[in-house]
Amino acid sequence: MATIFTKIIRGEIPCYKVAENDTHFAFLDINPIAEGHTLVVPKKETDYIFDLSDEDLAQTVIFAKKIAFAIDRALKPIRTGVILEGLEVPHAHVHLVPIYEESQNVSLRNKVEVSKEKMEVLAKSIADEVRL
Ligand code: AMP
Repeated sequence: MATIFTKIIRGEIPCYKVAENDTHFAFLDINPIAEGHTLVVPKKETDYIFDLSDEDLAQTVIFAKKIAFAIDRALKPIRTGVILEGLEVPHAHVHLVPIYEESQNVSLRNKVEVSKEKMEVLAKSIADEVRL
C-alpha cells in the first residue's frame, strides 16, 4: 500500500506544497514544530533513510539544501536545522526546521499552532525562493 507521503506526491492527499523535481518533493509538515517546518521526501518509497543508495541519499541532501536556502531567504531564521527521525511515517524524509532563536525547542514533540491561512502564506513564500 502506498505511504501517506506517496499519496501526497501523487496529489491524492492535499498538502502545502513547496517544491518538486523529478525525484524529490517538499511540503510543509502538517504538525509543525516551527513556522515553515518543511519535509523533503524522495519520491521513491524507502522506509529507512539510510537504506537509500549513496547516490539517492546524496540527491536527497542536495535537494534539501536547496529548500533550506529557500527557507532561509524567505523566513530569515538564524539558520535551518535538520532532523532525521522517521518513526511515524515509513517513507524516508528530512525535516527542515527554521530556527528563529537560540532558545527554540527543536524537538519533534514541540508542536506549534499555525493557522491554515498562515501555512498557505509560508508555503508560497518558501516556494517563491526555491532555485532548483
Ligand atoms: P517522523 O516519521 O517521526 O520523522 O515524522 C513524520 C512527520 O510527518 C511528522 O512531523 C508529521 O507531522 C508529518 N506528517 C504526517 N502526515 C502528514 C501530512 N499528511 N502532511 C504533512 N505532514 C505530515
